[in-house]
Amino acid sequence: MLRKIYFLATGDKVDKLGRLKVGKYLEVEGEPDIFAIGDCNDTPEIKLAKLAQDHSKFVVDNLKLKHEGKEMKPYSVNSEFNCRNRNNHPS
Ligand SMILES: Cc1cc2nc3c(=O)[nH]c(=O)nc-3n(C[C@H](O)[C@H](O)[C@H](O)COP(=O)(O)OP(=O)(O)OC[C@H]3O[C@@H](n4cnc5c(N)ncnc54)[C@H](O)[C@@H]3O)c2cc1C
Repeated sequence: MLRKIYFLATGDKVDKLGRLKVGKYLEVEGEPDIFAIGDCNDTPEIKLAKLAQDHSKFVVDNLKLKHEGKEMKPYSVNSEFNCRNRNNHPS
């Protein structure tokens, strides 16, 4: 039931695994001021604490750039943990 409510509430903002779809700045798709970091986003990476920390640092650094009126940097998927390089992963 909760799962059903979650998918109804989040609509097209989540993938089939319920992870928030994010753009190049880890912003939630269609929501430029909301960022999704760590396990809850759909970056094609193995979900690890290290990567959740990397995401948080990335977003903080970008928010500082934005605050200074500079252009934000796009997120690069960590190739070491890119699960698209692995067989049989759901992503
Ligand atoms: C069994 C297991 C072993 C693991 N071992 C490792 C390991 O050895 N090394 C490693 O790097 N990673 C490991 N991981 C993965 C690692 O735990 C996660 O990648 C990491 O915790 C993700 O951090 P996060 O902040 O994105 O999410 P989480 O750590 O899951 O934090 C999310 C928080 O949000 C809270 N929350 C959820 N819903 C709501 C809500 N509606 N309102 C308010 N709060 C909410 C939750 O209670 C939780 O505290 C392991 C995971 C599991 C399950």
